[in-house]
Amino acid sequence: MPQLPDVPLGGLYGDAIMDHYRNPRRRSPLPDADVESHELNPFCGDEITLRIKLDSEGRVESVSSVSQGCSIIQASASMMAELMAGQTLALLKDRSRKFRSMMRGDSLSEDDLKELADLPALRVVRRYPVRIKCALLPWLALEEGIEKAASSSDVVRPKQ
Ligand code: ZN
Repeated sequence: MPQLPDVPLGGLYGDAIMDHYRNPRRRSPLPDADVESHELNPFCGDEITLRIKLDSEGRVESVSSVSQGCSIIQASASMMAELMAGQTLALLKDRSRKFRSMMRGDSLSEDDLKELADLPALRVVRRYPVRIKCALLPWLALEEGIEKAASSSDVVRPKQ
């Protein structure tokens, strides 16, 4: 597998990234998931499997985010999973849009940054354009999962 140079991680942002990388959140298996999605970036060997269980209100009851690869995808997958619990898929779609916009280089409002919890630490990756894909891969899996949930009749729909 080709290896990309690692992003040098120092300071406060680096600490948050390394913390999630070393102690990834919500990696436990979720055998009774409603939605499962998988993304792979063969270019650097990054991989994520995301499983979501929804409650009767259509909110994320539990999530399993299992990633492999570089520190950036693993940190992004862990930070994303932490943010998902208890949220509706519509809200997560909005968070995903904001995260993408931030990684593209847009500046977000203080409120938007707060909504993204630990994820703004990943702004350091914007200096390494080839690595932005690593940060976005978990979100691709989330968007795929949201689409699957929307098109599947098995999945509980939010009450109107
Ligand atoms: Zn990567």
